[in-house]
Amino acid sequence: MKSAKELDEIAAKLRKNSYTPKERMAIPLQEMPVQAPEVRIHNMDEVALGFSENQAIVEASRCLGCKNHPCVEGCPVRIDIPGFVSHVASGDMKGAYSVISQSSLLPAICGRVCPQENQCQKFCTVGKMHKDIEQSVGIGRLERYVADAMSAQGYEIIPEVAAATGKKVAVVGSGPASIAAAADLRKAGHEVFMFEALHKGGGVLVYGIPEFRLPKKIVASEIGKLEKMGVHIQTNFLVGRTMTLDALMKEEGFDAVFVGSGAGLPKLLGVPGENLVGVFSANEYLTRSNLMHSYDPDHALTPAIKSEKVAVFGGGNVAMDAARTALRLGASEVTIVYRRSENELPARHEEVGHAKEEGVHFLFLHAPVEVQGDDKGRVTGVVLQTCVLGEPDASGRRSPVPVEGSEKFYQFDTVIAAIGNGSNPLIKMTTPQIETNRRGNFIVNEETLETSIPGVFAGGDIVLGAATVILAMGQGRQAAKAMNEYLSGK
Ligand code: FAD
Ligand code: SF4
Ligand code: SF4
Repeated sequence: MKSAKELDEIAAKLRKNSYTPKERMAIPLQEMPVQAPEVRIHNMDEVALGFSENQAIVEASRCLGCKNHPCVEGCPVRIDIPGFVSHVASGDMKGAYSVISQSSLLPAICGRVCPQENQCQKFCTVGKMHKDIEQSVGIGRLERYVADAMSAQGYEIIPEVAAATGKKVAVVGSGPASIAAAADLRKAGHEVFMFEALHKGGGVLVYGIPEFRLPKKIVASEIGKLEKMGVHIQTNFLVGRTMTLDALMKEEGFDAVFVGSGAGLPKLLGVPGENLVGVFSANEYLTRSNLMHSYDPDHALTPAIKSEKVAVFGGGNVAMDAARTALRLGASEVTIVYRRSENELPARHEEVGHAKEEGVHFLFLHAPVEVQGDDKGRVTGVVLQTCVLGEPDASGRRSPVPVEGSEKFYQFDTVIAAIGNGSNPLIKMTTPQIETNRRGNFIVNEETLETSIPGVFAGGDIVLGAATVILAMGQGRQAAKAMNEYLSGK
């Protein structure tokens, strides 16, 4: 990494914009400073510390400003990437923020959690020319820098709200799909009421993704922006129990509804013994830590979870989050058990790297057969079976094939299942007219995202199945556009 003085010199030259494309290609990729692994496993603070201003300017100056800007095609909300990056390169962070804000409402969040290596950065010319995707311009890191720099200066853009239309809209849920929909609906002048089942708004951004990847104050500030725009937020309101969707429309007079209820129903291991004490779904485990503060025994809203040896089943980002949370909650040994090999791990490369640095063990090609417990009903361990890789399955990854007779007992006192989430059936159960597919996801018109009930639209994980923050946000905006047309009688 370059010293601060060297970065100063490079940044000063770059501000004058005097680099040729060849020289730009030679500018070194800026690494993100992080907390040291041995320090960070003892705290919940964010792992990645963010660029300095000079690092941001140097990183932005690696961008070639390609005319055909392939990176933009890789961004689900089509941020003008060369546009904002060129502002960063010249040190104009407000200009950069203004460009990003035209397409994205959540840059501080997406800059942190977007799987950029599969989206914008995957298509970056710089990465392609280096024949190494990791050498792509750090678009997400720059987006995060811009959002953080603006917030540090107390600068925020609260979108203007048009004159009142007299229409009343309900938004179910408060995750990224609902945040995006609520903002765009409110901007159009409708009265917007957001109904959230939990006691805090933000969806997975608050209850799922841990503080050490996404500080909760950032999510709170986004929810705060909605409130400043005049969106009414009602927490502890479970649509389907507190009031049904039908009642919202027929009795409460809502003219349209957006459902962004997500995919919060955890899949279970499906093996004997999974009701034993000490077996958690990753959702429950992470919610207890993130939302109920079980990492802080003095302020925990539920009893703190004490574990020594933890097994986490799964290989996605949720499994990495649960394993790294378990370390921070004081476990002495955490093992991720995955049915396939390392090559098939679906989690982000960066998250796997962080988990390894922190001392998380990986046991590949093993699957659970049975969770065993003692006479008090507490977990004592798991019987695992070895697997080999067979033919590719529907996901395109080689499928795990269990090896008969390879069963072996492994000692654990806590078991966490992070093998996927389905959609919560409550709204479907209480609104049978709503059409769903066999996975319970709402079936919608691809263009308008309207469901089988006129005036009821949906987006995010409830439509896509467990997906990503930026895709959920994109669908929230897409639905809001169609809803604005629906409400204006077009
Ligand atoms: P959600 O964020 O799930 O929000 C739905 C909200 O609706 C919840 O608050 C829920 O309480 C509420 N709700 C549900 N039913 C009702 C009801 N009947 N009445 C009222 N409210 C209701 N994506 C990334 O892009 N990057 C990541 O790094 C990443 N990491 C993840 C880590 C974890 C642990 C998890 C679980 C997911 C992760 N994801 C990640 C996926 C991403 O968070 C989701 O795709 C995204 O949050 C979906 O947004 P959403 O608005 O559709 O739903
Ligand atoms: Fe890339 Fe995500 Fe930002 Fe789009 S929102 S530019 S995909 S980091
Ligand atoms: Fe810049 Fe890469 Fe986009 Fe080209 S593809 S404009 S180099 S970020």
